[in-house]
Amino acid sequence: MRIALSIAGSDPTGGAGLQADVQVFRAFGLHGAAIPTALTIQDSSRVHRVLPVFPSLILEQIRGLLADITPNAIKIGMLASDDVVRNVTLALGQLEPDVPVLIDPVLAASDGTRLLEQRAWPALRGLMHGCRLVTPNLPEAQLLSEEDVSTRSGCEAAARIFIGDFGARAVLIKGGHREGDVADLLAVASDNDSDNEDAPELKWLEAEPIEIESPGVHGTGCALSSAIAAGMALGRPLEQSVLDGRRFVREAIRLSERVGKGSRFLVLPGAAT
Ligand code: PLP
Repeated sequence: MRIALSIAGSDPTGGAGLQADVQVFRAFGLHGAAIPTALTIQDSSRVHRVLPVFPSLILEQIRGLLADITPNAIKIGMLASDDVVRNVTLALGQLEPDVPVLIDPVLAASDGTRLLEQRAWPALRGLMHGCRLVTPNLPEAQLLSEEDVSTRSGCEAAARIFIGDFGARAVLIKGGHREGDVADLLAVASDNDSDNEDAPELKWLEAEPIEIESPGVHGTGCALSSAIAAGMALGRPLEQSVLDGRRFVREAIRLSERVGKGSRFLVLPGAAT
């Protein structure tokens, strides 16, 4: 049995967050383990309230789980507060170094509600050190790198900061928020750490905008990062996991349905293995 762990916020609608992650893991044939970092009160229209889980409780949950089970990959999503980020960082200190950790640096929901307090940003940047992949959308890439990501060259500069300054081994800057050009940038750190050949390898993954009727789809970022983590848990190489994850979410968006009064929900394609 292969296991993926999500450390993320709870979304009671099941459209995003921890509940969505576990459904994505299942679609890839994985067992999903799940540690909540925050409770949210939200419906399909918006997030009403955010309540971080006691940081010590998160620390104990991660330590307890890792003492017993070694996941094949870990996805980290919404972390809510500075204390939560610090305790997750502390707890993952005991993790075996070959377990891939993927961070979706969730800062805010689509409705603008903050899902991570701003004073936690430095700790979040610190958590990225050594992680296998970070998956910011454009606003997150801009806020965390402090680069203007409105152009492709600006995105490339931001990617170099995620890798060179924050120490991530790879970053996927998602282009979905860009007008017209929605290509994603995948940057992977060079393995060659012997001299100053440290420029990351940059690859633009072209994409067509997806035409869907309004309203928008909820939880696409969560689903993409958990689908990529699922690929990694299955032992697939990074780039293949990214391409498979994008295809999976694209299809889930195409199939999406309106179940409540607000956003559409992803319909996960079957047999994603
Ligand atoms: N709730 C939780 C727990 C999340 O992690 C996220 C996004 O990461 C959201 C809500 C927001 O989802 P959306 O961007 O679709 O509004």
